[in-house]
Order: sequence, then structure tokens, then C-alpha cells
Amino acid sequence: MSIQTVGVVGAGTMGSGIAQACAVKGIRVILIDISQAAVDKGLAGISKSLDRLLTKEKITAAQKDAALACIQTSTDYAALKPAQLVIEAATENHEIKNKILAQLDALLAPETLLATNTSSISITQLAAATSRPDRFVGMHFFNPVPMMALVEIIRGLQTSDATHAAVTELATALGKTPITVRNSSGFVVNRILLPMINEAFFVLSEGVASAEDIDAGMKLGCNHPIGPLALADMIGLDVCLAIMEVLHQQFGDGKYRPSPLLREYVAAGRLGRKTGQGVYSYAK
Ligand code: NAD
Repeated sequence: MSIQTVGVVGAGTMGSGIAQACAVKGIRVILIDISQAAVDKGLAGISKSLDRLLTKEKITAAQKDAALACIQTSTDYAALKPAQLVIEAATENHEIKNKILAQLDALLAPETLLATNTSSISITQLAAATSRPDRFVGMHFFNPVPMMALVEIIRGLQTSDATHAAVTELATALGKTPITVRNSSGFVVNRILLPMINEAFFVLSEGVASAEDIDAGMKLGCNHPIGPLALADMIGLDVCLAIMEVLHQQFGDGKYRPSPLLREYVAAGRLGRKTGQGVYSYAK
């Protein structure tokens, strides 16, 4: 199945990034959010992002216009009907996602594929909110979507081979590299990345080394482009803590216990770059 029209639900950071990634490849996009203001904000973000690519001469003005022409916006779910695949990229909240998915399931033709960009909720569980668990799959894009090459394709318990093949083909058409992952908490990347970041907080709290030296160690010793503590500040310490809590709860294994220092920073409101202070200070 070749996908030519993609619906995207949620025009926030990820939804607008996914819409842009599709549109620059000439794939038609129907981008939905709950309010006109949210849709407009998403579209303005896409336009700004395309402008940056234009400035860097990665695309031409004609390519920018062509990409924008591929994107239709709406606040009405019925506009999604022509899509062969709808990707849910709304707020990370189980209840919100269940509601959206049930609504989409009732509205869309039975053959339409459904995907979710969730970072932490079980694909099998979300699929159960629909009557098409075989045509349901996880597509975990990375932020910022236009720049990041990876898509984790997560197979729920009942995801069919045909669904897996169709979204793998789409991810490849978007210029991304898909990897196939069985439904499991944290998938592959967060399961490995977040415990490493968490360990960096333990190392910091035990006074083994300074934050700067921990980050320099991992950059220079492992060739990582950014140290784990600086990365935590970028991701948001609250997001890091939430993912560790999900891993800890889902696997019931003490190796995933969140570092008390990470908890302390979050309790203090030191959430990273977005609050101006995390491990490091970003005050101007
Ligand atoms: P965001 O808050 O930037 O955007 C979410 C959007 O969903 C908002 O615009 C909101 O108005 C909209 N929304 C909420 N309820 C809706 C509804 N009923 N119908 C339509 N739209 C609705 O969030 P985000 O960072 O873009 O995250 C979206 C999803 O992607 C989440 O599941 C998140 O876990 C996942 N994710 C995020 C990242 C990241 O780095 N931000 C990375 C990978 C995956």
C-alpha cells in the first residue's frame, strides 16, 4: 500500500514536524488540532522551519511553496476521511489519546491505517481503543522531526505485516531510517538513553565528578555529540523523570529507579532549558 495522503492529529511540536516531513516529500497532509489558533500556530511553525531550510539553501522558494501547498488544515475530524493513514500526535495523555482514537475509528473507512506517535503508552493498549488493532501501529518520530533520521516502528500485539510494511515504506519515503521494535516500555531508544541520563544524575549526586566533567567524559570518551546532563536539560528534567517512572513501574525493576537528585531538581522547578535552569543555568 502506497500512502499518498496522511492525516495528522495534533499540530504541536511533533505533529507539525511530521506534517512538514511529509509535505516536503510531496505527500498530502491534513493537519488537525482542537482550535484554529493551535492549527495556525502549527502551520506558522512549519513555515518558519521551511524558511530556515531556505536560508541554508537546503530547499528553494518553489519547494517551500510546494510543501505548504501540500498541507490542508482543519479543526474538523471529518476532513481526515481522504487519508490512507492517520498519525495521532496529540498530548501525551492516555485518556485524550483513547478518546481521539475511538473517534477516528468510528469516522474513518475500515481500511484506513492508524498510527500513534506516543513516547510512553503501550501500542497494544492504544490499539484496543479501536476496532482495527491489526491496522494500528506506533510511529515514534524524534524531535525535531525534519532533522532527525530515525523512526521507531512499533508493532503492537496484533499489528499486521501489511500495516508494518506500509508505514515502513512511508518512513523510508520521508527519507527516514525506520527500525522495527516490539511493543515494550521505552521502545529501544528511550529504554537505553534515559537510564544512561539517570545514571549521570547518580554520578553527579555522589560527587564522582562535576557536571561539566561528566558531560566532557561522555562526549570525548564515547563520541556522543552532547553530554547526558546537557541533553537532560534539552529534553526537560520533568520529561526524563516521567519516562524513568514509567520504566520503573512497567518493568518493576530497581535498576530503573529515578535518581533522587533528578527528582529534587524537578521538585524545585529546575526543568532544564525551558525554565532557564536545570543542571546548568541558561539565564541570559
Ligand atoms: P505538544 O503539546 O507540542 O502538541 C500536542 C498538540 O495536541 C497540541 O497542539 C494540542 O492542542 C493537540 N491536541 C490535544 N488534544 C487534541 C485533540 N483531542 N484533537 C486534536 N489535537 C489535540 O506535544 P508534542 O511534544 O508535539 O507531543 C505529541 C506526541 O508526540 C506525544 O504523544 C508525545 O509523547 C510524542 N513525542 C514527543 C516528542 C518530543 O520531543 N516533544 C518526541 C517523540 C514523541
